[in-house]
Amino acid sequence: MRKTCHCGEMMTMKLRTVIYSGKVEIDNVPIFSCAACSRSEVIPEVKPDLTGLIARLGAEPDKQTFLFNECNEWADLLVEAKVNKKPPEPQDVEALIQQRINTLLDLYLLAQTLGDEAWITELNKRLQQLSKRSLLA
Ligand SMILES: [Zn+2]
Repeated sequence: MRKTCHCGEMMTMKLRTVIYSGKVEIDNVPIFSCAACSRSEVIPEVKPDLTGLIARLGAEPDKQTFLFNECNEWADLLVEAKVNKKPPEPQDVEALIQQRINTLLDLYLLAQTLGDEAWITELNKRLQQLSKRSLLA
């Protein structure tokens, strides 16, 4: 859950609002930030989804607001873990991940039973997002 900054201090994980193009607010983006030098960076696990979202907005987006946790499992988990109020212990997040994976697998079985291809695809994507576990390494 932590990362060492270039300045040598530990970075902590937070949820932040990212403003794109001065118009689009993307809320609840998980970032690492350093209290010592104010450096911050988007956590690698969510970068593909964030860049994907920005790519879909195009060069001249309308004024709008997104909740990043609605399109990314990591962000959603961290919102649930209330990472901004109290830094979660790695084992808390691990427990949440397990819970979430179990819930998604239940839904996956249901989707398969119903033969709902769109739902299966969506659940697959969400499970894949969670299977990138380097964050806890
Ligand atoms: Zn730093």
